[in-house]
Amino acid sequence: ILPQDDVAGPAPRHQTTQVMVGNVAVGGGAPIVVQSMTNTDTADVDGTIAQVAALSRAGSEMVRITVDREEAAAAVPHIRDGLRKRGITTPLIGDFHYIGHKLLAEYPDCAEALDKYRINPGNVGFKNKRDTQFADIIEIANKNNKPVRIGANWGSLDQELLTKLMDENTASANPRDARAVTREAMVQSALLSAARAQELGMPKNRIILSAKVSAVQDLIAVYQEVVRRSDYAIHLGLTEAGMGSKGIVASSAALGILLQQGIGDTIRISLTPEPGGDRTLEVQVAQELLQTMGFRTFVPLVAACPGCGRTTSTTFQELARSIQDFIRDEMPAWKTKYPGVEQLNVAVMGCIVNGPGESKHANIGISLPGTGEAPAAPVFVDGKKFRTLRGPGIAADFKALVIDYIDQ
Ligand code: SF4
Repeated sequence: ILPQDDVAGPAPRHQTTQVMVGNVAVGGGAPIVVQSMTNTDTADVDGTIAQVAALSRAGSEMVRITVDREEAAAAVPHIRDGLRKRGITTPLIGDFHYIGHKLLAEYPDCAEALDKYRINPGNVGFKNKRDTQFADIIEIANKNNKPVRIGANWGSLDQELLTKLMDENTASANPRDARAVTREAMVQSALLSAARAQELGMPKNRIILSAKVSAVQDLIAVYQEVVRRSDYAIHLGLTEAGMGSKGIVASSAALGILLQQGIGDTIRISLTPEPGGDRTLEVQVAQELLQTMGFRTFVPLVAACPGCGRTTSTTFQELARSIQDFIRDEMPAWKTKYPGVEQLNVAVMGCIVNGPGESKHANIGISLPGTGEAPAAPVFVDGKKFRTLRGPGIAADFKALVIDYIDQ
């Protein structure tokens, strides 16, 4: 028997300064927060309300909207009102680039309605006016008691800072490769901007930092360095992660490693949606990443075997999918009705090889008949055989048993 110390686990969370974003705590030991971003035109009030509502219903605990022009800034208070009327209080974050200082100054209702402002230190203003424009945003944030996220991004890095570091590197005795200098520029861009915000009177408990890169190894290195040098609350995300499985794998690999090292207070999985695809997938992936790593629980987990030549038909895949979708769809209602329901483990297995064993580990599990087995599906509850289901109604019968189990 292995001693308890040999059981691997995540490193202790990096101690950061807690920031309140609306009613949500970020950092300072608070649960890791899931956030997402809309892709509607913010000037489209109804469309944006609908998408924020969908993201929020899917479990996004904060939602960012772009505020890129006057029409968008003018729409923000109406979006906030519309959400309130629907009973949605999810904090709204305004994403500002280039002219954020102007929009926030000219649309005070927008500045008031948002719960946090995202500033990109690489494009907050135009050359040599940058500091004034950055200062303007910080002043408005201070006046409204709003936190900011200072979000450096590999794709819009502060060119002045990068050039300065490149020149210093070339002149140094031991020059490093250009990629290492770019990583350093990312770290410094975030940290110097945060220090400047503090000089301008913004307290540390209203500053969140991010430094997003699109390459996994660079992202890990940059965030490790940011937290080594500071204790600001940290927003994690791999930028431009990509579409489909590539985006999910790259984000999970990068964020999984950082989270395991105790780094990260809030996460966003940035996925490029398939045409007509569901924006809420990024929320689902973020939740599943945190849940599979044991940081939080959001929805009951469905364990399912991959299926193989022993699975007799598509019944097994259909049942696994339908149980998973059923649980996810019911969760918003279940969460209120059954506190703790997210701890539930369900197993849907394809044959007798691993079916009964895995089902016994779950709270409730079903082992479907494989090739050559009798057409019967034993159901296990709390480790013991409970009932055997047969016939064409197995899926509906099993869902009913799941509901009975939760009810009890
Ligand atoms: Fe195949 Fe059975 Fe294993 Fe599922 S449990 S992968 S059906 S052997």
